[in-house]
Amino acid sequence: MRIRYLPETLINQIAAGEVIERPAAAIKELTENAIDAGATKIDVALRDGGKSLIVVEDNGAGMSREDLIAAVDRHATSKLPGDDLLNITHLGFRGEALASIAAVARLKISTKAPQEEGWDLTVEGGRKSAPVPGSYPRGTRMEVRDLFYATPARLKFMKSERAEFMAVKEMLSRIAMAFPAIGFRLTHDEKLALNLPPCASSRERLAAIMGRDFEDNAMRIETQRESASLEGYASLPTLHRKTAQHQYLYVNGRPVKDKLLHGCIRAAYADVLARDRHPLLALFLKLPPTEVDINVHPAKAEVRFRDPALVRGLIISALKHALHEQGHVASSSISHFALGAFHSGDSYFFAKSNCPQGNCPQTQMAEAAQEAYRPFAGFVPSARAETVPESAPQEISYPLGAARAQLHENYIIAQSADGLVIIDQHAAHERLTYEKFKAQLASKGVEKQGLLSPEIVTLDEARAESLLACADTLARLGLEIEAFGAGAVAVQSVPALLGHKADLQNLVRDLADDIADSDHAGGLEERLHEILSRMACHGSVRSGRRMNAEEMNALLRQMEKTPYSGQCNHGRPTYIELKLSDIEKLFGRTA
Ligand code: ADP
Ligand code: MG
Repeated sequence: MRIRYLPETLINQIAAGEVIERPAAAIKELTENAIDAGATKIDVALRDGGKSLIVVEDNGAGMSREDLIAAVDRHATSKLPGDDLLNITHLGFRGEALASIAAVARLKISTKAPQEEGWDLTVEGGRKSAPVPGSYPRGTRMEVRDLFYATPARLKFMKSERAEFMAVKEMLSRIAMAFPAIGFRLTHDEKLALNLPPCASSRERLAAIMGRDFEDNAMRIETQRESASLEGYASLPTLHRKTAQHQYLYVNGRPVKDKLLHGCIRAAYADVLARDRHPLLALFLKLPPTEVDINVHPAKAEVRFRDPALVRGLIISALKHALHEQGHVASSSISHFALGAFHSGDSYFFAKSNCPQGNCPQTQMAEAAQEAYRPFAGFVPSARAETVPESAPQEISYPLGAARAQLHENYIIAQSADGLVIIDQHAAHERLTYEKFKAQLASKGVEKQGLLSPEIVTLDEARAESLLACADTLARLGLEIEAFGAGAVAVQSVPALLGHKADLQNLVRDLADDIADSDHAGGLEERLHEILSRMACHGSVRSGRRMNAEEMNALLRQMEKTPYSGQCNHGRPTYIELKLSDIEKLFGRTA
């Protein structure tokens, strides 16, 4: 066998495999080129999920005849004036995208630069035609037909048209978020799928893409450290999703997927969100170009930081700070949901009967609300309600108001200056206990209380063993355990905050489960907090406990003083507030 040099077309096809793996990747490259060319308006049109046709039109700088000829050659770029790969100021820099697309598809470029003639050029099967005079009015139009016709193996890996289209839409949305001033449109099979007119602010663009719910329930993030800055929006802990799909991260305007960044988000929200829930956010990190290497991945989706610790610290502290500030704000979408649930039977029926398919948004909203707020469905002050005498007037001026009643032995109803607050006493107490635990841990350690006679908890052998392996850690948290024969442990002391209220049997079993399930990925601190959170849950006033007025008001005043008290440790709200104006609306008192 002799070594041979591969022909240029083959080299390009091989390289194309890395850059252009599906229609969305081609659109990413073409859109980034349009942005680099200074376009203010970018129109993308697809047919068959981009498989048969992709057109990207921009009103940017266009190209001269000479540039047009060079543009489709490999490693030809106008974006690296010097030879410094550490000083990258455009989205593109590798000079590969057009050559790659031309290697695997039929490419036609029409372009017109100011003060120049317009030109058209085609590349097919790796062969470039000579430019011919064209009529595109201003900027550049890229037409890509029959993607991967030249590489049938790749063609087989394409997903359904719908799946490819969805990937394109997601990709274009991602890019559009970082460039609010540019107008974007996406058309699929002649139908308009995305229409994003130019926006004055990043917030407006984010709302257009991520929805009103996000706009209403997002915290502004803005911080600077040394030469790095971070800004954007992140959802309150009460607005979350099953996947991390709605987390958009940008480094110098470039959308990236980066494990480090996702880890930071998890760490920042660890205290306020269950492990399997994810906040929504869009964060824009800006670093001097020399601080970040984007040349890690051909599609430029990954980056490498020169100082990862700085970036990590910046993101975690910014998010934590915002969460802390917002400790008292529960998600407004929750009270909207609640309001939906309060709709009287008549209007609920009306919504349904006006919508024969039964799936109009109003109905869905009401149904979702009924689902989410089942406990409130029969909201009638029952005879068992614990009513409270008039409180001192100054109580009302507190944010959470004056406690007026306890209903269903778990919900405290309080009157605030301009509304009505419903507090989930178990959730609230859990958060308070957890924050007290954390404060104790941070100062002189968690206080413990010895048991007069040890409590024996039986587990299976494996669980008992893994629990005992953590005995030192648990002891730091006030929970002292010892081996007690095979498969059992003896509890010698408990955290003083739990006292004798705790159901030790269940607490120890749950902890054993947590420890067996945990992947040991988080640091020690994260681990300790998880255990504390579990203990707080067990040690909290269970629903079902009667409280008198003083106790209820004391709970409210404590919540006001406690960080993150708007959510329980699992990210559920601890209270919701209905403004008087909303209540009046329910009764048709206002227009
Ligand atoms: P890169 O973007 O990394 O430079 P590309 O292969 O994507 O490489 O593009 C090659 C060159 O073609 C660019 O450097 C730019 O000069 C030119 N070009 C590509 N697309 C456009 C466009 N839409 N408008 C103006 N010039 C473009
Ligand atoms: Mg490019």
